[in-house]
Amino acid sequence: MKSTVVGSFPCEESSPSNFKDKLLNTFGAYDSYKDAIKDSVIAQLDAGVDIVSDGQVRDDMVSIFTKFIPGMKLEDGNTVVVSKIRKPTWEISINDLNYAKKVIKEYYGGKIPEGKGIKGIITGPTTIIHSSRIQSFYKNKEDAIIDLAHSLKFEVDAIAKKVNPEYIQVDEPFLSTGMVDMKVAKEAIDILHEGLDVPLAMHVCGTLNNAFKDIAKFNVEILDMEFAGNDVNLDVLEKNANLISNKKIGFGCVDSSVNEVDDIEDIDSLVSKAIDIMGKDNLILDPDCGLKRAPKDVAFDKLKLMNQIKDKYN
Ligand SMILES: [Zn+2]
Repeated sequence: MKSTVVGSFPCEESSPSNFKDKLLNTFGAYDSYKDAIKDSVIAQLDAGVDIVSDGQVRDDMVSIFTKFIPGMKLEDGNTVVVSKIRKPTWEISINDLNYAKKVIKEYYGGKIPEGKGIKGIITGPTTIIHSSRIQSFYKNKEDAIIDLAHSLKFEVDAIAKKVNPEYIQVDEPFLSTGMVDMKVAKEAIDILHEGLDVPLAMHVCGTLNNAFKDIAKFNVEILDMEFAGNDVNLDVLEKNANLISNKKIGFGCVDSSVNEVDDIEDIDSLVSKAIDIMGKDNLILDPDCGLKRAPKDVAFDKLKLMNQIKDKYN
């Protein structure tokens, strides 16, 4: 049984403090988020997390991608679709992921140990389109979703080839809302998955009693869902475990919606039930969702507690 995070981690943007950084800042080349990535990776490793993220420190989960995608533009912080969606102008997460990987390497004295590593994370095409406004070109959301999937496929392939992550996760929180055409959402994931030689995961938060049967059919190796701040999903998992016998479960076992450290006995009992349903080797423990909104020390203690439970059962 391994552990991971869903993605985001609390961070502070830094300002240039030494001569070199001040000089870089003058030329617009100072990166105020680099220290945040480093801090976030080290905190995750200190807490015992096996597969870490870069902390998703730069922006919200939509605009972090859409600001580099032709056909989409930002208006007052919201994404608007203005013309045909095309290939990103930039390999959006490669530099940050490779920097995070370098931090992991240094942390372990030069070589990343077996079982530790990084994952790439992208926000899914269905979620991005459903949180954007279509102003022109597309008559419906579904055509935009498919074009965006082809666009994001460039990013997925770049991550697989240039970062060599443990796996790549697609965040699709909208799939539990009932607003989504599941057939199109599935087709979009198929596009991202095509020819990929690293495992693909899909994170869906929310209550899954209506959506689980559809989600179980998606072509991904790992399904990541919330079980701590949710009293329905464990029951849904238990009743439908036969539908996902070829998949692993990212098992959200600490509550990311509450800014205090979870009760150790609650997590223990939740994880023990999950082991009974899925088997230890098919579980990856993580928080329900991103931890961005938690105070740093609380986020750290939540991860530490989760890994304490992992170690107990390993
Ligand atoms: Zn989530």
